[in-house]
Amino acid sequence: MNIAVIGTGYVGLVTGACLAYLGHRVTCIDVDETKIKMLQNGEVPIYEPLLDQLLVLSAQRGGISYTTALDGAAAEADVIFIAVGTPPLPNGESNLTYLENAAKSIGRAIDSSRYRVIINKSTVPVGSGNLVEALVREGIREAHPEKDRDIQFDVASNPEFLREGRAIVDSLFPDRIVLGSSSSRALEHLSKMYEPLVAQQFDPPPFLTRPSNVTRVPLVSTTLQSAEMIKYASNAFLAMKIGFANEMAGVCERVGADITEVMRGIGLDSRIGAQFLSAGLGWGGSCFGKDTQSLLHTAAEYGVQTRLLEASLAVNYAQRLAVIQKLQERLYILKGRTIGLLGLAFKPDTDDLRDAPALQLAEKLLRMGARVKVYDPIAMDACKKLNPDLHVQYCSDAYSTAVEAHGLVLVTEWSEFRHLDLKRLADSMTQSILIDGRNLFDPSAAFKAGFDYSGIGRPVSLNRELRSLQKLHEGIEISADADVKV
Ligand code: NAD
Repeated sequence: MNIAVIGTGYVGLVTGACLAYLGHRVTCIDVDETKIKMLQNGEVPIYEPLLDQLLVLSAQRGGISYTTALDGAAAEADVIFIAVGTPPLPNGESNLTYLENAAKSIGRAIDSSRYRVIINKSTVPVGSGNLVEALVREGIREAHPEKDRDIQFDVASNPEFLREGRAIVDSLFPDRIVLGSSSSRALEHLSKMYEPLVAQQFDPPPFLTRPSNVTRVPLVSTTLQSAEMIKYASNAFLAMKIGFANEMAGVCERVGADITEVMRGIGLDSRIGAQFLSAGLGWGGSCFGKDTQSLLHTAAEYGVQTRLLEASLAVNYAQRLAVIQKLQERLYILKGRTIGLLGLAFKPDTDDLRDAPALQLAEKLLRMGARVKVYDPIAMDACKKLNPDLHVQYCSDAYSTAVEAHGLVLVTEWSEFRHLDLKRLADSMTQSILIDGRNLFDPSAAFKAGFDYSGIGRPVSLNRELRSLQKLHEGIEISADADVKV
């Protein structure tokens, strides 16, 4: 099939690459000329593992091209994806301006030469499919006032569930594909397009192995409204699950339990499931916050109270600032102190800084008079570009971030941080305080390295007790994760 994808961000570009890999002919469209030029030159404008390699293969299989000219690409397409951003407005509502512009442009571009399905892949409030249809019709009427009834199209919703950093795996081996439309013709058309993916009738790219449990992908056909709602409800649930782990972490710290043990214990219950139960600094990124806010807004429009959603947001944003409290408990004064932040991206394996906890933390620390040093393996350039007024010191690695710092905060669990020489870090600091915002480090290893270590939801008093014991029994080895032997 001929496919046009409007928007070459994290979702649009990955969607285009995967569909071309499956054998469809894809044209990716964006209004951002810089992005399109980079793609035409073989460069990838975002950081997403394996995407560069997949794009090379996609060009050889179905074929993939890039343009800023929506008209020609949409006119030649059987299926047109809308994958533009839907960022939040200050009141939490989704900003649908990009979606509206794309829909109108499609209307002006298409003709009566073929039937088309217009798919909304952007995350949009319930009812937006109807809005897209109305706007495409308006565009058609503007461009072809006399022939508007001859131009046939349907609108469908196909929400995206990929995770940045794992986007290729998630797209080629998805848990499910959701298609929503009131048109059976559109659903048939799309089922045909997705058949290779549903039946897993393709050889995985050489750098990926098909997970053994993926033999056939469930295709969920629904109404437009249900498909739109599935996306919001999924994200709201995942955000709530992490929020639950964080709330329990607060209780664990006080009662002397360890959240990692507690969540492992509950996650093994098949009714609960182990994923998204990691306590930490809270979630961030382009989706959870924006989508939960947008769902709250929609519910309010319909007079529905959503107390769980409200609580989930409040727990998350309070969680980020728990780090400040931990630093204050240890340093008392933050003014004039130097704090190092390890990680800027909202999670590992992406350069995405949207709603990143590190940025909120850095801003808060700077407002409180602290000096802030930062390091991220991938997102530093994006951070400098997006936040020119953020007066932090960018460092070349984790070790230089620690030098002369009074506290070090692990914000993003990049895998390179797992292998840090903790002793070297601790020795170079003015005060060896480590706040492990993702429970990445082994507390006893951090303690042995000389750190005053604090994780999230791990007993607060452990370090202090061990330190005083060590003073009493110098030379006797003490482990924080085993019985204390003296
Ligand atoms: P993004 O900001 O990375 O990309 C959007 C792209 O659309 C930009 O390159 C922008 O220039 C382009 N664009 C805007 N208006 C356009 C127009 N009229 N014509 C052509 N191009 C246009 O956004 P994203 O992260 O890819 O997200 C896209 C949508 O998918 C959002 O609704 C988001 O909520 C949803 N989503 C995102 C993720 C994710 O992990 N990023 C996951 C699932 C769903």
